[in-house]
Amino acid sequence: MHPGIAELAAGLKERLVALRRDLHRYPEPGWTEFRTAGLVVKKLQELGYEVYYGGEVIKEEAMMGVPGPEELARRQQQALEQGADPEIVARMEGGKTGVVAVLDTGRPGPTLGFRFDMDANDVDEAREATHRPFAEGFVSENPGAMHACGHDAHTTIGLGLAEVLMAIKDELKGRIKLVFQPAEEGVRGARAMVEAGVVDDVDYMLGIHVGISRRKVGQVVCGGRGFLATTKLDVTFTGVPAHAGGEPEAGHNALLAAATAALNLHAISRHSQGATRINVGTLVAGSGRNVIPGRAEMKIETRGATTELNDFVRERAHRILQGAAMMHAVEVDVKQAGAALSGEASAQLAQKLAAIAKTVPGVTEVAEFGPAGGSEDYSYFMARVQERGGQATYIILGTEIAAGHHNSRFDINEEVLPLGVKLLGEAAYQLSNTLPPTR
Ligand SMILES: [Zn+2]
Repeated sequence: MHPGIAELAAGLKERLVALRRDLHRYPEPGWTEFRTAGLVVKKLQELGYEVYYGGEVIKEEAMMGVPGPEELARRQQQALEQGADPEIVARMEGGKTGVVAVLDTGRPGPTLGFRFDMDANDVDEAREATHRPFAEGFVSENPGAMHACGHDAHTTIGLGLAEVLMAIKDELKGRIKLVFQPAEEGVRGARAMVEAGVVDDVDYMLGIHVGISRRKVGQVVCGGRGFLATTKLDVTFTGVPAHAGGEPEAGHNALLAAATAALNLHAISRHSQGATRINVGTLVAGSGRNVIPGRAEMKIETRGATTELNDFVRERAHRILQGAAMMHAVEVDVKQAGAALSGEASAQLAQKLAAIAKTVPGVTEVAEFGPAGGSEDYSYFMARVQERGGQATYIILGTEIAAGHHNSRFDINEEVLPLGVKLLGEAAYQLSNTLPPTR
């Protein structure tokens, strides 16, 4: 591998760890990454990138599952109190916390895209002596929010990569785009960036995740396969409350409509063409013992091995929701709170990356392909680039973890930070000096 990149990445280690711990300490859930994205904007500007953010890189109509105005305002205020730059935050109004940095070498060559997600989970972090972030003083300061999926590591690796690429820019060709995405959790954010066109010109697209299916630093999967397509739906049934003893016939029972729907959603047929899933995750209804329930709320999700299979389940689900509402003469409102497509890594790019990864010191085990692990809205980036004749892949960086993803005791081995920078730096160097794929 390029000796300069290895040395630069190794030299960054302490700062990468400090940055990751800072991000870990101030986690921000989807669409509220004001401090995180603000810090990303600043660092990228300081490094000399052209930086685009806010409404420039987020299409408002395509944002899904955005928190209400009160929650946005509360998190925005919190970000300012925790040191966010007010001018930058002002340009992210409404939760438009996406950032794209461009390095244009001015020399002909391919356009590379790298995607890093920035959001935290809705989890209260463990405050126990055996949990390292607590023991070493970087446990979450934000109640109800925790980096329990490693997106703090992803953002850190992205900024480390930005630094390395700028340092070797005279040896690069074409253009490099670093995409920092909000709201990956709940698969809500990618579509809004893709629809803003941020990867329309990308020839080679790379996304990463730490710790999925590989539990040792040094293990790398170069082509994530089998993303499940998914749709997240927020459903509200609105009926008419009434006195349950005095005048029950005047009520329109939203609880019964929701209960009818819940049972029948789980009765949607399996499909001969592949795996499908449905889950009614929450059902909250009613207001009191002696009142005909006037309101019920459900959070549900559908999944499929392909986008078509997921569409099958989603369409059936819509019909059942409408039918259940009609049976009980209540209104039903269905909001799409998130979505992701199915997807497969481009084989050629995954193989090329596997060859590159094998030359990187510290990489001990390389798989060309492996399971991507559930659903990821990175699939939107992948699909857009592939549709337009480019190649895209998803890289899994192994790491030891203290507990499973989304667990309140989750933690990573920070050695993955410099290793990730090294690997992506080398990938950028090699790919930028190849031709764009033939279309
Ligand atoms: Zn994740």
